[in-house]
Amino acid sequence: MFQRIRSAALRGIEAIPVEIEVDSTSGLPGFSLVGLPDNAVREARERVISAMRSCGFYGCSTRMTVNMSPADLRKEGAAFDLGLAIGMLAATEQIRIANLENFLFLGELSLDAKLRPVHGILAVAANLARYAPQTTLVVPYENREEAVCVETLKVIAPKTLEECLNGLQEPERVYCSGHECHLASATQNKTADFSQVYGMAAVKRALEISAAGAHNFLLVGSPGAGKTLCARCLPGILPAMRRNESLESTIIHSCAGMFDSCSGLMKSRPFRSPHHTATVASLVGGMKLRPGEASLAHNGVLFLDELPEFQRAALECLRQPLEEGVVRLNRALGNISFPASFVLGAAMNPCPCGYAMDNRRDCRCAPETIKRYRSKVSGPLLDRIDLQVSVPSVPIDESRAGEAGESSAEIQKRVEAACEIQENRLKDRKNFRNGHLDGKTLKDILLWDREAENFALKAAEKWRMSHRGYDRMLKVARTIADLRQSDKVERPDLAEAIQYRALEATWMN
Ligand SMILES: [Zn+2]
Repeated sequence: MFQRIRSAALRGIEAIPVEIEVDSTSGLPGFSLVGLPDNAVREARERVISAMRSCGFYGCSTRMTVNMSPADLRKEGAAFDLGLAIGMLAATEQIRIANLENFLFLGELSLDAKLRPVHGILAVAANLARYAPQTTLVVPYENREEAVCVETLKVIAPKTLEECLNGLQEPERVYCSGHECHLASATQNKTADFSQVYGMAAVKRALEISAAGAHNFLLVGSPGAGKTLCARCLPGILPAMRRNESLESTIIHSCAGMFDSCSGLMKSRPFRSPHHTATVASLVGGMKLRPGEASLAHNGVLFLDELPEFQRAALECLRQPLEEGVVRLNRALGNISFPASFVLGAAMNPCPCGYAMDNRRDCRCAPETIKRYRSKVSGPLLDRIDLQVSVPSVPIDESRAGEAGESSAEIQKRVEAACEIQENRLKDRKNFRNGHLDGKTLKDILLWDREAENFALKAAEKWRMSHRGYDRMLKVARTIADLRQSDKVERPDLAEAIQYRALEATWMN
């Protein structure tokens, strides 16, 4: 007989419904699979038949045709095993389950019929809750925390094929509840705290602005000056995630197979710091159509330490997501895109030896070497960095003599207040933070007077800013004014924002 089973595949981070059609007819035993499956799906046949046999069913004693639709969607991975097994058992009338169309199946089977976890369950669950809320989602036990993150959805999470078949007879008795998953949600990520950082007021100020308005930053200074330490404190002052941001970021991590079952939906903004050997594919994604670092940093920070050590090609491919907030990949079977709206943070030495901007040690680099080193960071990339900060190296006795700084929690309060101002100003926008604004909106919200505007224009001319650089400078000024809770952007706000573009002016001209 004929049986149709619902399952799902991922395109980027989007869940696409897939139908598995199984037709069993009398005739010579055989098995054919159509609908553009890749090798993993072909191998599924062997796994599924073994698993069925180990549960005491017969495997393939009729003529069986399996079709997966839509046919033009590339289906990979082993997530269809469970649906395939249920379909084959139902089509050969070895099991009888009422209302099979109300269930959606995902999960990999082992040869002895255990269910193994698969990627992207949260994307499927969120999609179902939106478009087919009556569906019951059937996933492997190890994916249960992920599925119940979407609280409205009915979920069954068996450990084996046998447990699954029993559960389907009386689904009401085996629904998972969402409570257990959020037990561990109170445990916060431990990050460095700004109270441990002595001195460095200018760097702290710049990072506060970055956190408040989502502005990209670059820290330049001698080795050991504390660039990396300051950057590591940044997660502690970022504004809280909004609910939709949290769901979006968790879905991306789920699709990358990095869902943290202890914490459920992500509570704090991601902070990703890939090593400088990172390839283009690992930065922007594409390997097995999985999201890359830029997408994992979505709604958070992508921090590149030792910026000039990164491959030039890897850095250049970040330009497009920096402008559009999305990574677009062209693949043989169509285009996919991943959200990638992140704050780019970076740190570097001013020269190969590291001491070109240091008063206390001599730089041993030839001017040509320094020029070549700095040119690894291209003009267009530097143009997109709003806060360019030199980190002075301060003698230990001087810095430790001063008082320890404010705690991250205190700074975060100001950041959160500035963020709320931005949110209220652009209530209907998903991306309300100053760093993400378009030029037209920017003009409407500056509320500056003629004198301030003239001041900004003169500075732009003097510093030879590009149009993009000028707009970005104005956005930073808007954030500085938000931090002091002012409606109007005034001259001191602009003056501070302009000096954050100083490196670009000295390096590139
Ligand atoms: Zn040097």
